[in-house]
Amino acid sequence: MCVGPEKTGAALVWHVMAKQAPATLCGQRFAERHDASHAERTGHCPLCMAAFAKLMTTAPR
Ligand SMILES: [Zn+2]
Repeated sequence: MCVGPEKTGAALVWHVMAKQAPATLCGQRFAERHDASHAERTGHCPLCMAAFAKLMTTAPR
């Protein structure tokens, strides 16, 4: 997980980032790291959550 601005807004949300991927699951790249302490109360990026759920259901076992 990584903290970054929401794709559709300025609010910070938790994004899901694959280990090998240079970008978040919703396709964002962050040039700078955001302070996670500011994001403790923020929600999760809905786009990342949807993509993550899709990966979970389609991943081979
Ligand atoms: Zn995201």
